[in-house]
Amino acid sequence: MALAPNETQRIMLSAVARLMDRFPPDYWKGLEDSEAYPEAFVAEFEAQGFGGLLIPTEYGGAGGSLSDAALLLEEIHARGGNAQPFHGQFYLSFLVSRFASEAIRRKVLPGLAQGKLRMQSFALTEPDAGSDLARIATVAERAGHGYRIRGHKVFISRVEQSDLMVLVARTAPRGEGPKRTEGLSLFLVDLREAKGIERTRIRTMFNSQTYELFLNDVEVPAEHLIGEEGHGFEPLLHVLNPERILIASECIGDSRWFIDRSVEYAKGRVVFGRAIGSNQGIQFPLADAHARLVAADLVRWHATALYEADADPKEVGEHANIAKYLASECSWRAANVAMDVHGGYGMARDMHIERKMRETRLYQVAPVSNNLVLAHIAHHALGLPRSY
Ligand SMILES: Cc1cc2nc3c(=O)[nH]c(=O)nc-3n(C[C@H](O)[C@H](O)[C@H](O)COP(=O)(O)OP(=O)(O)OC[C@H]3O[C@@H](n4cnc5c(N)ncnc54)[C@H](O)[C@@H]3O)c2cc1C
Repeated sequence: MALAPNETQRIMLSAVARLMDRFPPDYWKGLEDSEAYPEAFVAEFEAQGFGGLLIPTEYGGAGGSLSDAALLLEEIHARGGNAQPFHGQFYLSFLVSRFASEAIRRKVLPGLAQGKLRMQSFALTEPDAGSDLARIATVAERAGHGYRIRGHKVFISRVEQSDLMVLVARTAPRGEGPKRTEGLSLFLVDLREAKGIERTRIRTMFNSQTYELFLNDVEVPAEHLIGEEGHGFEPLLHVLNPERILIASECIGDSRWFIDRSVEYAKGRVVFGRAIGSNQGIQFPLADAHARLVAADLVRWHATALYEADADPKEVGEHANIAKYLASECSWRAANVAMDVHGGYGMARDMHIERKMRETRLYQVAPVSNNLVLAHIAHHALGLPRSY
């Protein structure tokens, strides 16, 4: 780890280590058989106050930093767990505590901090607007004292497991060129009360709780608008940039898992009368994965420092995207190396390598596909013409 954790962070990491000892890799594997949500883990996680890590202290949270959350999620992954079922609340906490009205903050943040409410769901992706977020067609119209929302979303995670969902909709038609992200607005949807949401679970290659949503005239009160109507893009960056940094952290944790497990195995597995780890064909891919991990880690902390210093969101975005790209490529590569090092045993479900491999593959695609990250770098960092 390139960041030396401070005293508070060391205490937090010890608590996570104790928690993960109670929820070892076999727990996560067991959930796969029934495709179940890690309810027991999440309840304990919340009971220990981790769900409120990024909620400001004046609302009862721990007032933690993005660095704290990055370390926390990394550690869960490095110990064989998967934070995908509950990481949403971290990147949505910044949005709500910075941009929601004071009335909404007072209404939801204390409950989130105490683990009485869950805000794990973020509804952005649509069938005809995957990578092209400006093309989203879900519409929110003013109606009475609030808004009426109509549209279709896909791959929206943790809807059934959340009390609150943040949803992106259009309150004005899409403009052209640089104006294409104008007219986007963000809403907090109270899933306990909202009527008109139909959901169907999408079963995926790993254990995820992901849904297709049909929004049929869903009414939300006016005060549930987050930020200004039609100017949702800037607040949205306070979801997307931390999200990329936190996903990078999970990939860094996964990379550590694959490399650590493989090094241990390579030292102990004897073939042709010697440990397989004494062969360069085993050593070099592991050394290569380690070098890539160190590089991804450094960029992850650089992006985190930029976000915490309130740097220009474009600069944060460039580095958050690069961190997510490098870290997700690294964890996928490390997964393949782990498969090779473990021989046939890598495919045995009890070894957990194949499960972690399927889980980490998501991050090449979501929350933004790596092609789109490269297109963003080409355009923003290199000044090449926009291809998207
Ligand atoms: C398990 C899971 C959970 C998810 N959870 C959520 C969630 O909670 N909330 C949410 O809003 N979304 C969620 N998503 C959606 C995810 O963010 C999208 O799948 C992702 O952004 C890619 O969009 P798409 O699937 O529509 O791919 P598409 O946009 O259709 O892209 C398909 C392929 O074409 C490539 N491509 C497209 N355009 C270009 C271009 N101009 N240049 C080069 N290549 C291009 C892409 O890189 C990709 O490889 C989830 C997805 C999964 C699988």
